[in-house]
Amino acid sequence: MIATINQYSKRIDDIRAKFEEWEIDAFLIGSTANRRWLSGFTGTAGLLLVSPKIAVLGTDSRYWEQARNQAPNFELEQFRKSMEEEWSGFLVRDNIKRIGIEVEKTTLGQYKDLQAVEGIEWVKLENAIAPFREAKNEEEIKLIRTAAAITDQAMMQVSKIMKPGMTEREVAWKLEVLMRESGAEGMAFPIIIASGPNGAMAHHNPSDKIIEDGEAVIVDMGARANGYNGDLTRTFFMGDGHDPRFVEIYDIVAEAQKAAIAGLKAGVTGKSVDALARDVITNAGYGKEFGHSLGHGIGLDVHEGPRLSVYATDALIPSGAAVTIEPGIYIDGWGGVRIEDLALVKEDSLEIISQCEKKPVIS
Ligand code: ZN
Ligand code: ZN
Repeated sequence: MIATINQYSKRIDDIRAKFEEWEIDAFLIGSTANRRWLSGFTGTAGLLLVSPKIAVLGTDSRYWEQARNQAPNFELEQFRKSMEEEWSGFLVRDNIKRIGIEVEKTTLGQYKDLQAVEGIEWVKLENAIAPFREAKNEEEIKLIRTAAAITDQAMMQVSKIMKPGMTEREVAWKLEVLMRESGAEGMAFPIIIASGPNGAMAHHNPSDKIIEDGEAVIVDMGARANGYNGDLTRTFFMGDGHDPRFVEIYDIVAEAQKAAIAGLKAGVTGKSVDALARDVITNAGYGKEFGHSLGHGIGLDVHEGPRLSVYATDALIPSGAAVTIEPGIYIDGWGGVRIEDLALVKEDSLEIISQCEKKPVIS
């Protein structure tokens, strides 16, 4: 418990150390993941106001008890009225004039309400906290391992569960039940089961389509446990038939993933790692069929920094970042292959956290 409190005080101090650069007197944080990361509070409604001197958590009566227990570093402000009425009381204090807000998490409606508070100047900060969340601490890595392990266990059952004649939705439900029964509090995102031609859509939702013999099936899923997310993709081939096209494409995607894994360690850019995988796929003639990024950071959010992408910034990937590596090839009318593992970036190497085997053929 002590260690936990220290973890949050360090985070608060890290954020405060940026106030001068950001030219703010205080930071208002309302997004769920950032609020939890900074305070430990897991409720779904609440606001943090952090200045160099104060750290306050404002929330309504549903969460007072919980907030007191989970966020001892924060003074508790009990909201009793509507938010519009509470704004000024909560914000106008301690000589605070310029307050930073999270641009990417603030709706226009909220911004309008905030602007109505007199005497405050709003400073729009974009993804200001995100870089601090990239390198995970020991506690977070443990939680990510737990989420990944629950996901692995369920994925290892796919070869027993999934049979030709079942619908995509049936398979998705069985896997969700398995993960919930092994301790998942929810899904990181709705499970993707994309069979045959549906596999050409990278984020296909499970449908009533029947899974047929001779089809490739993409299964992409993640358990969420203790707030942290898993994310894992395997592609299976239904039936004994040795489809040469599936084998060809599967091998290219697997090679691309290996190339990225070999080159990913602390201090490289997300762009350069993306290129390692993308070059393999492009050289094999499928560059246009790999339309998405190689991977993403993962933690309290399923998609967070760092990005492994053509569009990544020049920022270097830190040691301790948890990331996915998920190349894929998608062919209209036929389907797709994606292989995704979750990994931990270390100083000189990469540790693959996902333990699920890669055995594509279900016969
Ligand atoms: Zn995924
Ligand atoms: Zn992913």
